[in-house]
Amino acid sequence: MTTVRTGGAAAYFSRPAAVSRVVELLAWARASNLPVGVIGSGSNLLVADSGFHGLVIKLHGHLTEMHFDGPVLTCGAGARLPRVAARCADAGLSGLEFGVNIPGTVGGAIRMNANAYGGVLSDALEWGEVATPDGVEQRAPGRFEFAYRRSNVSDDEVVTRARFALRAGDAEEVKSVLASLRERRLAAQPSGIKTFGSTFKNPEDPRAEGRTAGQLLEAAGCKGLAVGGARFSPKHANFVENAGDATTADVIALIAEGRRRVGDLAGVDLETEVQVLGDVDPALWGTAR
Ligand SMILES: Cc1cc2nc3c(=O)[nH]c(=O)nc-3n(C[C@H](O)[C@H](O)[C@H](O)COP(=O)(O)OP(=O)(O)OC[C@H]3O[C@@H](n4cnc5c(N)ncnc54)[C@H](O)[C@@H]3O)c2cc1C
Repeated sequence: MTTVRTGGAAAYFSRPAAVSRVVELLAWARASNLPVGVIGSGSNLLVADSGFHGLVIKLHGHLTEMHFDGPVLTCGAGARLPRVAARCADAGLSGLEFGVNIPGTVGGAIRMNANAYGGVLSDALEWGEVATPDGVEQRAPGRFEFAYRRSNVSDDEVVTRARFALRAGDAEEVKSVLASLRERRLAAQPSGIKTFGSTFKNPEDPRAEGRTAGQLLEAAGCKGLAVGGARFSPKHANFVENAGDATTADVIALIAEGRRRVGDLAGVDLETEVQVLGDVDPALWGTAR
């Protein structure tokens, strides 16, 4: 269920297709003292090899659908961004083109404040609906406290639906923007590999001297570096790929080694972008330096 294809099973797994069902599940998990994990497309997620001893929720059916009303799109948070971008282009609507290259869901993109090539989710977002164990609420973009790859959506909250206000444009023009964004992405990043995209956030530390996480990792000799079945991509050092039979432990040891090398080289402590579900070795994760 994750794009890197490592990790163990969940103790409980549910695919709710209605918002009311999500609230029920969250209330049940709270009453049962179980942690909750939400999985969108699993495109930014690393699951512990020992699995997750709680309830994993993956939105389904109605909660993956899109409805257009003129330039307004209301969709389930389980809708996948590349599909959303393509449907908007077919309808001649502009505002979510950047989603064509982000292989996640609308809910995952809100939680992670995903963006690409200058496109920002909150520019088009009118509201996101968030389910909690106590009910649902709608949050305007200003209430998500968006920051670099962060929002205030917490672990026991599920983004269930979202509404976007788009701009009416020309379908052919919007489609050509999607095509050029796809081309730019193909030229810059590896494709067809098992990965969760960028491993580390780009650092704000002045010691990075403006270098991206990928450039720092490359300078530290990480391109192509492997631990077990996991390696930093030879094409883009900030992408970890599962080259065949990687375990999550391999991936985590590789991430720790990359962070250690960049720390030694530039004194910069890289922060991971990828999210974790389940127990991972705290000696390697986050406290590596
Ligand atoms: C090849 C590749 C390219 C990528 N390019 C980009 C890029 O250009 N820009 C970018 O920003 N990201 C990029 N990513 C990362 C990833 O696609 C985004 O972070 C995406 O928003 C994650 O969405 P997801 O549905 O896959 O979330 P998941 O990976 O399933 O989950 C990520 C986090 O969001 C939470 N979550 C998921 N769904 C919900 C929900 N409905 N409600 C509450 N929490 C939820 C999860 O619990 C987890 O904490 C890329 C990834 C890959 C593999």
